[in-house]
Amino acid sequence: MSAANLRLDLPDMPEAAAQLRLDVRAFIDEERKAGRLPPPERVGLGFSQEMTKRIAARGWIGLTWPKKYGGQERSALERYVVTEELLAAAVPVGAHWVADRQSGPVLLKFGTEEQRQEYLPRIVAGECGFCIGMSEPESGSDLASLKSRAQKVDGGWKINGRKIWTTNAHRVHYMIALVRTSVVEGARHAGISQLIIDLQAPGVTISPIISMAGEHDFNEVLLEDVFVPDKALIGQEGNGWNQVSAELAYERSGPERWLSSFRLIAELIDVLGPDARPSSQEELGRLLSHLLALRQLSMSVASMIQQGQTPNLEAAIVKDLGTKFEQEAVRVVRNIVSAENLTAHGRADRLKALLIHAQQYSPAFTIRGGTNEILRGIIAKGIGLR
Ligand SMILES: Cc1cc2nc3c(=O)[nH]c(=O)nc-3n(C[C@H](O)[C@H](O)[C@H](O)COP(=O)(O)OP(=O)(O)OC[C@H]3O[C@@H](n4cnc5c(N)ncnc54)[C@H](O)[C@@H]3O)c2cc1C
Repeated sequence: MSAANLRLDLPDMPEAAAQLRLDVRAFIDEERKAGRLPPPERVGLGFSQEMTKRIAARGWIGLTWPKKYGGQERSALERYVVTEELLAAAVPVGAHWVADRQSGPVLLKFGTEEQRQEYLPRIVAGECGFCIGMSEPESGSDLASLKSRAQKVDGGWKINGRKIWTTNAHRVHYMIALVRTSVVEGARHAGISQLIIDLQAPGVTISPIISMAGEHDFNEVLLEDVFVPDKALIGQEGNGWNQVSAELAYERSGPERWLSSFRLIAELIDVLGPDARPSSQEELGRLLSHLLALRQLSMSVASMIQQGQTPNLEAAIVKDLGTKFEQEAVRVVRNIVSAENLTAHGRADRLKALLIHAQQYSPAFTIRGGTNEILRGIIAKGIGLR
């Protein structure tokens, strides 16, 4: 592909999406009124198994999946609407996020029928969550250099290695681990496979890593002679690299790549009211126009996924632009908070607390799911510049 024929077309939203949006908003209102959705104190995804159960009861997990696995067979664009509304309202969706966004779709695309029947209905019911076992202490951007190994043994695989930055490993049930199963001379991307690991299995040790914001989301996961049965292998042995490439397109383009700071912006607008200084209004106006453009790009990628494409290049563009926007939003809000006299407003303290969290958390935006330098390499290659 070259830059000349790179196109991101805005899709037509299906009519049913408009009603779905209203349904999600009504649910959020109900949750707020019932006191089950307190005002957010952090940017990024919160974690609540109870909330995941309530969202599951509405049928909004695995929305696009076949009915025989508990899904609703609705479109990727309708799923987009659900995730957008939940994130914009800072609903804690972390308990099902990874399973709904990427583990389930990977099982649908590459898994066996037995795996689909075993895991998908439980994900849809909000009963089981997954984490991503890709990064290792010395393999992040250069993921193909990973050292975790699975050795073939009678009836299964024995895994040894160390995964790091594994978000929510201490709270969910399974990890899809990327491990080396064979060595193919001169082809480092070959011989890598994906295996499902039950995080309660003997030999799995999960240790916390506390973030700069003082929170425990990340973990280091040590795998020592962990046995998984043959049926834990996803897709073909040695094809893990291709499978992960497809998975990363799901991971990189969604609204979570440009909505992390949205509550902060919304909170600021509420606190400022109509009397903000002209310079603050101008800065906010610029920010919001960028937000709308990003939303259109991100919806275009959702539409490509809907059409069965694997838009790795387009997803990398959305993530690069989206995460830079999220960081810029924190900077703009901080400038406006410093310039305006907000002390009289009852919600100013909450806004400032959210801003402090956003400042501590925002470096992660351009690292998680692939750093921006790596994304730009993918973009350069994709449009024929290298
Ligand atoms: C909030 C958060 C959640 C995460 N959750 C998970 C998770 O659940 N599961 C998981 O597996 N991982 C997770 N990660 C890890 C994440 O995927 C890695 O941190 C990321 O891929 C970068 O790898 P690294 O940290 O090893 O950095 P490195 O790869 O060591 O990179 C260090 C720096 O060098 C730059 N760099 C590296 N190679 C190149 C190159 N070829 N060209 C130009 N620049 C380069 C990078 O851009 C970066 O700035 C998470 C990270 C964060 C921040």
